[in-house]
Amino acid sequence: MEGNPLLPLPKGMRIEQMQASENEVKVVVIATHPTSCCPLCHEPSNSVHSRYQRIVRDTPCGGRRIQLLLTVRKFFCRNSLCKRKIFTERLADLVASSARMTIRLSSQVASIGLATCGKGGTRLAARLGMQTSRSSVLRRIMALPAPSYPSAVQLGIDDFAFRRGFRFGTILVDLERHRVIDLLPDRQAETAAQWMREHPDISVVSRDRGGEYASAASQAVPWVTQSADRFHLAKNLTEATQLLLARCQAEVLAASQAGEGEQGEPKELVRELRPLEPAQVKKARLARREGRLARYQEGEKLQKLGLKPKEIAQRLGLSDRTVQKWVAAGTFPEAKQRRRKASSFDAFTPFLLKRWKEGERKGAKLVGELREQGYQGSERTVYRYLQALKQTEGKSSSPNPRLPQYSANTAVWLFVRNFDSLGEVEQEDLTALRQARKVLDKAYRLVQEFFSMLHKRQGHRLEQWLAKVAKSDLPELQQFARGVQRDKAAVQAGLTWQINNGQVEGQVTKLKLLKRTMYGRAGFALLRQRVLHAF
Ligand SMILES: [Zn+2]
Repeated sequence: MEGNPLLPLPKGMRIEQMQASENEVKVVVIATHPTSCCPLCHEPSNSVHSRYQRIVRDTPCGGRRIQLLLTVRKFFCRNSLCKRKIFTERLADLVASSARMTIRLSSQVASIGLATCGKGGTRLAARLGMQTSRSSVLRRIMALPAPSYPSAVQLGIDDFAFRRGFRFGTILVDLERHRVIDLLPDRQAETAAQWMREHPDISVVSRDRGGEYASAASQAVPWVTQSADRFHLAKNLTEATQLLLARCQAEVLAASQAGEGEQGEPKELVRELRPLEPAQVKKARLARREGRLARYQEGEKLQKLGLKPKEIAQRLGLSDRTVQKWVAAGTFPEAKQRRRKASSFDAFTPFLLKRWKEGERKGAKLVGELREQGYQGSERTVYRYLQALKQTEGKSSSPNPRLPQYSANTAVWLFVRNFDSLGEVEQEDLTALRQARKVLDKAYRLVQEFFSMLHKRQGHRLEQWLAKVAKSDLPELQQFARGVQRDKAAVQAGLTWQINNGQVEGQVTKLKLLKRTMYGRAGFALLRQRVLHAF
């Protein structure tokens, strides 16, 4: 390195002059090497053709911006076999050809960009004496070469949403090193398979239960052991249980008509079922329809007995408006098909319900507690929910002893959680539900058995469990079991090994945070760069 100790320069470059002002230092630099190599034939040449000046920005020094005024030479290539007649000397260690900042400045800007990636980035750079613009920061990030990692032996793969529910990508995690190793722009089997083909060192793929990644792995790296992720197994079983409960609701209701006074009608209220798969959406909708139909028929009966709409509504736990509509229509009104949007509130309903059951009625206090739990949505939503709870409660003070009033998707949590983790009231309610119907008791035992197998890593019990389900008369669990059967080796691995996609979920969460701090609607390519170069 020649030059000033504060401003090191590559060999063959010399500082000729410096001109300092308050914020900036202009440095005149010349190349001193008598020869330069032709970039095409690599033959050195000493015949200077001409000189010109380039101005490039460099890393700041002592808080001042640095501008290099480089005198660059053009040479004749004297190699008669070479196509190139004239070439510009390369300053490869200092600045790329036609770049306007030095390599070292560029890398600093990229680091600032990766760390901030927002407007703050350009402001921070300015503070540090680097003049730059948003688009320049972005270009620097995009220009970073993909980091090379040692190949992942245990691969975790999952999808993530760019925009919730609209576009999905794939995240690939090295499960041993806890690092994101790549992002893919979609979640298609072919895309994932292509990636796996390029990474044949993988020995284990931990993935969800969706067929895409499974088929990608079977196609591309058939020798690899696949492991079904426990979280996804738990989720699938929970969904199956929910369907089962939705179906039973209708049956419980029908039974309450027959066995007068023994059972009150559990109301499907408050929060609707929100399954993920289209086929299941349909199934759940039909189950709900059955419930509604049963209530409608009971309403019809009550009307025949001479009850007024208001009284019918009270007995059935429905709003006056609904019953009025029924009466006006004269026939069973089919529900409009709609899909409720997922709301950030959903995650908090179990907590709210629990507090409500514990006797907390003050809206403001409950809102406060939800805030502490991390709820960031509107108060209105909470109050609407509490209103619904209050109505349910008012109506349940019927003379009939009642079954605990749960919708299928709140009751499901009683079924899948560990009994000891339930509150006292929840435990009582669960026991009541199990006693009310044999089906529910059987389902509960099977569901709990599966979860215990899952938590205790007892994959060897899977076969036995599947046999029990096959013999049961629970179509929803049988459906789940058929899915398991199709993917049995991977499920067994998932239930047995330590490996799982928990950290992949964590990486997805980090990725979401990263996305939030990015420039506007930054695209996939930028997101990928940021994730892969994250500190
Ligand atoms: Zn040449």
